[in-house]
Order: sequence, then structure tokens, then C-alpha cells
Amino acid sequence: MKILVVNCGSSSLKYQLFDMKDEKVVAKGQIERIGDDSLMKHETDSYQQAKVSVNVSDHMEAIQTVMDELTDPKRGVISSAAEIRAVGHRVVHGGEKVAGSVSITDEVLAILEECIELAPLHNPANITGIKACQKLMPDTPQVGVFDTAFHQTMHKKAYLYAIPYEYYEKYHVRRYGFHGTSHKFVAQRAARLLKKEDKHKIITCHLGNGSSVTAVRDGNSVDTSLGFGTLAGLPMGTRCGDLDPAVIPYLMDKEDLTIDQISNILYKKSGLLGLSGVSNDLRDIQAEKKAGNKRAEVAIEVFAYAVQKYIGTYAAAMGGVDAVVFTAGIGENAVEVRKMICKDLGFLGAFLDEEKNQLQGEEADISLEKSKVKLFVIPTNEELMIARETKEIGLGTQ
Ligand code: AMP
Repeated sequence: MKILVVNCGSSSLKYQLFDMKDEKVVAKGQIERIGDDSLMKHETDSYQQAKVSVNVSDHMEAIQTVMDELTDPKRGVISSAAEIRAVGHRVVHGGEKVAGSVSITDEVLAILEECIELAPLHNPANITGIKACQKLMPDTPQVGVFDTAFHQTMHKKAYLYAIPYEYYEKYHVRRYGFHGTSHKFVAQRAARLLKKEDKHKIITCHLGNGSSVTAVRDGNSVDTSLGFGTLAGLPMGTRCGDLDPAVIPYLMDKEDLTIDQISNILYKKSGLLGLSGVSNDLRDIQAEKKAGNKRAEVAIEVFAYAVQKYIGTYAAAMGGVDAVVFTAGIGENAVEVRKMICKDLGFLGAFLDEEKNQLQGEEADISLEKSKVKLFVIPTNEELMIARETKEIGLGTQ
């Protein structure tokens, strides 16, 4: 049974075709710069194509190009589009009305349209991708898997901001949280490793270019560090993370900034980049730190300290913790950062095994034998999670 997973950005399309028999990826690739000198990369087990120019003016043509590759008589992996049993779409924002993965209907599309205000960069591209797939594969079930949905289990006390209540009622200003598909995937895996699939307290740290921490109790998100938009919580590659809101009007006044200018600073010039002055990429910052750059050193310290504080906060929120999970680019690979984060967690009963912590990019239990709290590295796989949910929702099979 083949399931196609589609992730549409404003000018890009990423895809993976899964064979759900063994959950293997049979083809994957991406098209970048849709509408302007587009480039495509496509690979299967037996065929690897470097980036090549393709003539693609919109998402519809992009999906058609992907289908042509997948069904190519020589190097294709399926004989026709009919072999694709369902299509799963990564969707960024489902607001308060979507609390799980859903089959795409006109009603769901209307909700996605409503949520454009909340995710102006992402939702329009997601909608375009869904409509293109519906047109090209009208008889194939389409399923939406939302970044926000996993966090809809948060209690009001976790998602409300202490501003006048009318702004929640009028404009739906509240914490939504993101990276839900990733948090859910690694929390499920950790629960299995703990042999506590039903009852557990897990803190998942998705640390990548975008980062967030989530408290997961018994399979449900209890709290998460990202909020209304994608700025809150941990400092990220270029995003500021938690900030006293008083800083915003103060800087706008001092530097005579417009809303667009301050947004640009907080979204694109802050975080690891803003602090280090070097890069948004941790590897570059680590190299600079090694060369003696003090700002690079402090940028890494600020990041690790923020993660450490969230772990303490969420352990308190859940009244304990069974496991802490590290995932995404930094979480899976940055040995030094994991060590800094875990350094002071002994009070929780969490002790890092420094030797096991040397492992990079693979699943591992990196805690000492005596550690009451397990420390896990679990590579995330959002596409596989989307494929699994699509199979379950679109085809009604587990
Ligand atoms: P992601 O958004 O999940 O792709 O993660 C990107 C982040 O992971 C970047 O900051 C990278 O520098 C970081 N990263 C990836 N590989 C490594 C590595 N081997 N060591 C340290 N950081 C890494």
C-alpha cells in the first residue's frame, strides 16, 4: 500500500512515497523555487538525480511533475497514480477547530482558509498543495496532518495568555504550539522504549533550526514552548524565543521601527544568529567558539540554559518525568549541547552517560544505569508520522 506525503511551502514542494507494508520510503525528493527557474531533486533506491532544472510555474504543475517521475516507464516506482492509496499533507495551522489529523473536506479547507491569518506564510501554500492533489487525484483520499493539532489537548491554564480575555474571544490569541507531529512521533517511541505506552510523563525537546519543548503526559500534550506564533520559547536559529514583551515597544521607540521592521528583527535576525553574530547554524557557531569567539560561546550557553529551564518547568507541570527526549538536528547530533543541558538535571534523577552521549544521529538511551529519568536520543521522522496518520484516517487502518 503506497502513501504519498506532501509538504508544500510557498515556493517549494517536498514529497516522500511510502510503502506502508514495511514503512519504507520508495521515492523522495523536492522541487524548489516553484514559478522561477525551478529545481528538482528526486531519488529512489536505484536512481539518484542531482538537482535539475524543471519547468514548473505553480504547485499544480509541481505535483504533476512529481507524478511523472513516480510513474516514469523507466525509472518510476509505480505504474500509475492509482497505486497511491492516500495522500497526506503537512499543514501548519488548524487553529482551535482541528484537534487531530482529518480527511480533507470542503469544511476542513474552509477552516484552513480561516487560519491563514494565524499562519500567513504557510497555510496558503498548504491549501494550494491540497487543491492541486485533489484535482490530479480526485478519487484518492487526502488527509491533513497539522503541526498544531497535537497540542490541542492543552488545558486552558496552559494556553491562555494573561491579557484581556476579549482578545482570546475576538482574535483567538492563545498558545497553539507547533512541531506537533515531531513531538508526537518521538513521544510515542519513547513511551514504547519505556514500556509505558499508556501512562507516562515525557519531555520532548525538538531542537533544530526551529526549536520547541513539549510536556507529554499519557500521550497528550500538556504544555509546549512555542505559542501563538513561532517566536516564543527557546531561542532558535534566527528567532528570539522568550522575551519580555516590554522590549518590543521600547526598541520600536528607540530605533523608530515599523511593525514589519521589528518583526523582521525578531523572526530573522535574533536567536543564535543575533546572539553570536556568526550564523543561525549551530555547527558554524561551534566552530567559532572553538576559535575563541566569546559571543559564539555565550549564544550556545543561552540556548542550552533555556532548554534546561524548560525541562525543569515541565517536570514541575507534570509532577515528575520518566524520560527526556532529544530530537531534530541539534538534539540528535550536538553532543556538547546535550551535555550542557543535562549537566544540572541530577536533582530530577536524570544522569547523562557521557560515553553513550557521543552517539550522533541514531536512537540511543544516553542515561546512566542509575538514572531514574531516561535520557533518549530519538531521530524524528515527521513524514513517517504523517504517512501513519494518513493510513489510519484516510483508509481506516492502523
Ligand atoms: P534541523 O532544523 O532539524 O535540520 O536542524 C538544524 C540544526 O541542527 C542546525 O543548527 C545545525 O547546525 C544543527 N546540526 C545538524 N547536525 C549537527 C551536528 N553534527 N552537530 C551540531 N549541530 C548540528
